[in-house]
Amino acid sequence: MNSTQGYLLDIQEKFEHLKVEQTRIFEMFEELASFQIRLAEFSGLSNHEDLYMKLLDVLSSTVEFSFAQILRRSEGTDGFELVHEKGVPGAMRELLTLDENLLQWAVANEQVSIYPVEDEGVLTCAQSMIVIPLVGRREVVGATVLWTPFPSEELNQHVFQMLSIFSKEVSGSMENLDLYLRTQSLTYLLDNTIESVPHAIIVFGLNDRIIACNKNAEFLFGFKRFFALEERYQDVLPKDVSHTFSALILSTLEGRCEIDQEMDYAIDARTRLTLGISSSLLSDKHGTPQGVLFICRDMSLSREVEKLRDLDSMKTEFIHTVSHELKTPLTAIMSGTDILLNDKENLSPDHKEIVGIIDDASHRLQALLTDILDMSRLEDGSIEVEREWRSVEDLVTSEANMLVNASPTHTLKLEVDEDLPKVFVDAPKIRQLLENIIGNAVKYSPKGGTITVAVQPDDDHLAVSVTDQGVGIPEADIDLIWDKFYRTELATNQQIEGTGLGLSIVKHIVDLHDGEVRIASQENAGSTFTIRLPVKRSSQEET
Ligand code: ADP
Repeated sequence: MNSTQGYLLDIQEKFEHLKVEQTRIFEMFEELASFQIRLAEFSGLSNHEDLYMKLLDVLSSTVEFSFAQILRRSEGTDGFELVHEKGVPGAMRELLTLDENLLQWAVANEQVSIYPVEDEGVLTCAQSMIVIPLVGRREVVGATVLWTPFPSEELNQHVFQMLSIFSKEVSGSMENLDLYLRTQSLTYLLDNTIESVPHAIIVFGLNDRIIACNKNAEFLFGFKRFFALEERYQDVLPKDVSHTFSALILSTLEGRCEIDQEMDYAIDARTRLTLGISSSLLSDKHGTPQGVLFICRDMSLSREVEKLRDLDSMKTEFIHTVSHELKTPLTAIMSGTDILLNDKENLSPDHKEIVGIIDDASHRLQALLTDILDMSRLEDGSIEVEREWRSVEDLVTSEANMLVNASPTHTLKLEVDEDLPKVFVDAPKIRQLLENIIGNAVKYSPKGGTITVAVQPDDDHLAVSVTDQGVGIPEADIDLIWDKFYRTELATNQQIEGTGLGLSIVKHIVDLHDGEVRIASQENAGSTFTIRLPVKRSSQEET
């Protein structure tokens, strides 16, 4: 072979080599292009599970692996948690140990890395481990770890490049998906909030079109959201409402931030209500106005409540004034009957009886007036509380002895623990409270029986309980007997006298002392009233 032939052969060989190289580059190019197409599919995914499956799917067409794990950064920590895995059978799972330092290094350096698996004797299908960091634009998203059946040095440069591209692209998609899901749940929360507000909410854009509204707005203004959104509010809302809104929009745009207005509005021929409408300007983050928000609430109910409250306080004031005015003539009557009763001998039997009845009735009237005046002072907070350290057992014992022993049909049983702590109380008020509770126990056991009065420590309280064997309280009445003037039928049917004010006074006094009251009762068997007074000193009391 001459030199020309040798030269030609050499060129031909190089040409063949170039052709192989070109085909390889062509194949790589095609591979890369289809890889890019597959990566683009990530952006259309709307949940994590699909994304994890797609991620491993794309990886499996790029590099051979036996096992894979996807880990996500645990919220608010530097650690990772496993969220998805593939090809990791139970028994082998134990053998796959993952060095957290390798993961941390890969995410800190944002670099795909491959490591030989030390324990290759155990798992031939896991000779090396590839860590693909997933780091988004704003934060570390996680990492994917692949166990490959080939040694680490066999990972070729081209695949390595593809994995690096993959790492960047998928991290971005994952971050976007996280953001999308977060925004979606926030939007849902916001929608829910708007829907659950008990007022009608409606938002107009600056082009007068309805941008948003809630179901209360639909109901109040009688339209269907589906047809109303993006329509001009003037075409959707009742004429009178849209006129009011037009005026409010003008004043809102003129710069007054929050505007309130009231209008009479007829929902239908039978239902009229007073609407309270507040409007405020909605701006974007640059402060450019985007629309006007209206919140419309039904003022009729609050007006009614206001009226009832006014009436109630007028009634209380009236009762207070009348009671006060009655006290002076009553004192005169009582002094008169006292004088007459002191001179009983000079009265005829008939007159004696009449004076006795007047005396009895005036004492009852006096008790009623005292209760009413006490009640109204307790209610308006004008009553003075003068506390001192007192031993409750003294108060209890004297009241119980006085009230129960005065009744011939009742027996008193006192159960007072020794060495009880003192309590910081207003003694006359506690006396008044005991008088009511023990007095009731006697009064509401008309057939007599035992009245047990006990004083015991109960956690950080002192419990005073009064038990009778009387008519009892029906379960349905237990919560009601604290209301002013409320009396049970059991009491009224048996013509037991009372005003229905005593327990309301008791409740107020207990509240003034930060205490509690409990009742246990059984019809026709008896009741137990327990008053719990706190023993612990508050810092204020100690000074
Ligand atoms: P009054 O005894 O003047 O009617 P209270 O406010 O003291 O008013 O009591 C309210 C109602 O609670 C009583 O009318 C009665 O029906 C019921 N009640 C209170 N204490 C007892 C009790 N120990 N046993 C049965 N019923 C009671």
